[in-house]
Amino acid sequence: MNILVSACLLGEKCRYDGKSKPNSDVIDLGNEYELIPVCPECLGGLSTPRLPAEIQGERVIRIDGVDVTMEYNLGAQKALEIAKLNGVSIAVLKSKSPSCSKGQIYDGTYTRTLINGKGITACLLEKNDIKVIDENELEKL
Ligand code: SF4
Repeated sequence: MNILVSACLLGEKCRYDGKSKPNSDVIDLGNEYELIPVCPECLGGLSTPRLPAEIQGERVIRIDGVDVTMEYNLGAQKALEIAKLNGVSIAVLKSKSPSCSKGQIYDGTYTRTLINGKGITACLLEKNDIKVIDENELEKL
């Protein structure tokens, strides 16, 4: 089975701060499954490192006020294409990310306040019948 995975969870240094967020349990899934790494923000043309962005309503706004919604949407579309090309029906994506989170996101005020909500890519994948879980709920696989 092929599983789409947030690349930063596999150790890729693609986060906004130029770091990764390796998760050994996610990496170990590679012993059982074919892991397909994607970083939607990179796929959308954003550079690494990059300024952080948070979702504000329908838009994604960088901390300096620049609207990066287009890049986030493009990255989500490309991640979906990759998922479809690889016959993916489940994705393990990073929590709290404005792209990858399936449950909680920061509220757009840059005060580290979490609210219920989905990242742009997680939302698009779910709309296309791909099950999304995060790195803390691997038991749902
Ligand atoms: Fe990781 Fe997703 Fe952020 Fe890329 S967009 S750094 S894969 S959480």
